[in-house]
Amino acid sequence: EAKARGRNGFRRYAAGTAMYNPARIALENDLRKAIDGDELVLFFQPQVDLVTQEIRGVEALVRWRHPQRGLVSPIHFIPVAEESGLIVPLGNWVLCAALHQLRQWQMQERLPVRVSINISALQLRQGGFARYLAEQIEAYAIDPCLIELELTESVLMHNVEGVLQTLHEIKALGVSLAIDDFGTGFSSLSYLRRFPIDRLKIDQSFVRDIERTPTNESIARAIVALANSLSLDIVAEGIETPAEKSVLEHMRCSEGQGYLFAKPLPAEEIVNWLGVSRKELLLSY
Ligand code: C2E
Ligand code: MG
Ligand code: MG
Ligand code: MG
Repeated sequence: EAKARGRNGFRRYAAGTAMYNPARIALENDLRKAIDGDELVLFFQPQVDLVTQEIRGVEALVRWRHPQRGLVSPIHFIPVAEESGLIVPLGNWVLCAALHQLRQWQMQERLPVRVSINISALQLRQGGFARYLAEQIEAYAIDPCLIELELTESVLMHNVEGVLQTLHEIKALGVSLAIDDFGTGFSSLSYLRRFPIDRLKIDQSFVRDIERTPTNESIARAIVALANSLSLDIVAEGIETPAEKSVLEHMRCSEGQGYLFAKPLPAEEIVNWLGVSRKELLLSY
């Protein structure tokens, strides 16, 4: 008997029940090939200082250049990757590709920006994740303080002792940690005391139409206050309009990310974007 419908609309079956879904199996096989082949690509979205609009970092966001379907959004394949375990090799690919790109930027463009990388629960819980991370940092000769890992609240809810240990190992490398989609999970706030977190990312659902949605305004304001009182950094996700930016800026949310500043861009375009946005910035003064 089907128990629940997954986020991707596929039914999940109770253990022991045969599952045969040809479309799903084909997708998994395609994804496996995509990871081994050359079909995944990273886009990067700027995170900016809300007051000066200067770039502070970029978030690495994976896409799949599917030979037939074109550029596929991660919302269509990350859930499948998570359920099939493919998220581990996929996540490792993302990590290496992001560090490789950071290295390129450091060498060619001298772009000293932080790169934020999304890490799934399964990936973090694989044995030796912190050691793997350390090896990649070494291999790509990256300054670890330029790396931030984004975790969702759900990562912090299970196997707390094991996760805590891994997070301390990651912090010991000099890498920082952010909570993604903050406020949308079901975990208690007490984890903010226990886990070595550096930053909260206000989920875009609270940013949407914030200038005329009092509940969103209240929640965002509370998150900013929480971050300030715990000395955590903060970034608001999904800022699309000047009005949204203005409200967040006035509540002293220091950083923002969203289509207003830039959509996720291929690596080459990040450098162009920087040039153009610097000029715009100069003109606005
Ligand atoms: P996320 O980590 O919360 O990433 C932010 C998402 O919001 C991105 O969607 C980004 O394109 C989108 N976004 C940014 N600014 C705006 C805006 O102003 N308006 C709107 N409507 N959307 C905006 P994307 O790239 O489709 O990624 C979706 C999710 O897929 C990510 O959410 C993340 O959970 C997951 N994901 C993406 N790349 C990776 C990855 O390499 N590893 C893992 N584990 N998950 C990933
Ligand atoms: Mg993220
Ligand atoms: Mg998010
Ligand atoms: Mg709006």
